[in-house]
Amino acid sequence: MHQVWQAVIEQAELAKLSGPTISLFFRKSDIIDFDGAHARLEVLNIFARRQFETKLAKPLQQLMAKAGYPGVKFTIVIRSGKNGGKKSERAAQPDFSGRIASPKRISAPPKNASFVSSGTPKRYGGEPNNGLNPRYRFANFIVGGNNDLAHAACQAVVEAPGERYNPLFIYGGVGLGKTHLIQAIGNALAEKDPSLKILYTTIEEFYNAFVNAMRRKVSGFSDDYRKLDVLIVDDMQYIAGKEKSQEEFFHTFNALQQMNKQVIISSDRPPREISTLTDRLRTRLEMGMAIDIQMPDYETRCAIISAKSGLSGVTLDTQIVEYLAENIRNNIRELEGVLNQLLAYCEVRGIEPTIELAKSILTQSHVVKPKTLNAKQIIDKTARYFKLDPKIMCGKDRSHNIAEPRQIAMYLIRTELSMSFPKIGREFSRDHSSVMHSVEKIDECIKNDFYIRQQVSDIREKLYG
Ligand code: ADP
Ligand code: MG
Repeated sequence: MHQVWQAVIEQAELAKLSGPTISLFFRKSDIIDFDGAHARLEVLNIFARRQFETKLAKPLQQLMAKAGYPGVKFTIVIRSGKNGGKKSERAAQPDFSGRIASPKRISAPPKNASFVSSGTPKRYGGEPNNGLNPRYRFANFIVGGNNDLAHAACQAVVEAPGERYNPLFIYGGVGLGKTHLIQAIGNALAEKDPSLKILYTTIEEFYNAFVNAMRRKVSGFSDDYRKLDVLIVDDMQYIAGKEKSQEEFFHTFNALQQMNKQVIISSDRPPREISTLTDRLRTRLEMGMAIDIQMPDYETRCAIISAKSGLSGVTLDTQIVEYLAENIRNNIRELEGVLNQLLAYCEVRGIEPTIELAKSILTQSHVVKPKTLNAKQIIDKTARYFKLDPKIMCGKDRSHNIAEPRQIAMYLIRTELSMSFPKIGREFSRDHSSVMHSVEKIDECIKNDFYIRQQVSDIREKLYG
């Protein structure tokens, strides 16, 4: 970073220039050329340039003067992505934009690539394939009343892995920051001690790797996991009722515990409510620390919006921040999604975010359902997905491979069209209680069984695709 700019940033921070978001504008920019009278200031994007040309023009001059350079003329340029050095510097910064790819996609390692070849988890700390996404850090995690306990426990684990809170079990609803927090533990530990063998895996990946190893008769699957210092397992609720993989997980888990290796687990519900867990695994999981993350309160939501837009180089009007925080209440992922859409929309068009835009994006972001969708289409598409004749699917056959698709079709008609149970019953020549039972069953399956969840979401995509 240019020395003069460093001095300006220090001044900006000393002056606590309108809070953290503004000083971030400064931190994300840099002087790339300076001859005492003229300076070229390189900024992240068009917003930052606008800010420096308008609202921040005066503070910029004042801070330069304080740093010993009064009356400097600025040319503001937008950083080009091709600048090698700058790019890597940027890559090291937390990236909240998520506009190019969703975090899941960035983090997802090639599907079980490391397992398929040898059946061994090669994703250790220090190596890129430990499953950790560098984007998830404590530094960009906003702490509020909803998550402060979970955050503190995660930090305690970083201080003394394997000692306190082992296993650490973090649970809470979708999009509330579980993956972010448990990944942040992994990243912090990898930084603190690069020799640690760390693996982040979802329970689905663990299960698939196990099945693969079995199928290919690769030995040493469990040994490789037992060499880990830190095992982070995400989305434990999807542990399928498969006895063998649970057994394997149980033994891996026990072995790690006995060696005082840290195990961290996330789930959408506490261990006692994961119905597919065997009793002994549940008991073991309950022996450590289980902490929940709640929905973020209004203030936390405001803080998250400000911080995230600030990191994208944008200062949103308070009115917009409050509007978003009021309207997206229970899911930070959704909050982030709408915010990113708003920022991307404005960036592409070179305009400033307004409350009207925020409103229109928020209204549009709720999946717009084609008006033509009806029960018959859902039945046909579900039947086609399962390669069944729709007539047979709606008929009397109660064998499992027909009954389950039928129940899924009923479930989709209920959730997508909000049709009444008796009306759905008529489509399938069944009474309303049988429909109700089917819908409840699929609802429960979606929570516990990732195959069904995947099937339902595939079909749902086809309905709107
Ligand atoms: P979960 O695993 O609980 O479904 P994630 O950890 O994937 O949720 O969080 C969803 C998104 O919201 C992620 O992009 C994450 O970075 C972000 N997020 C969640 N909680 C916070 C927080 N407290 N501060 C900053 N970002 C957060
Ligand atoms: Mg998650």
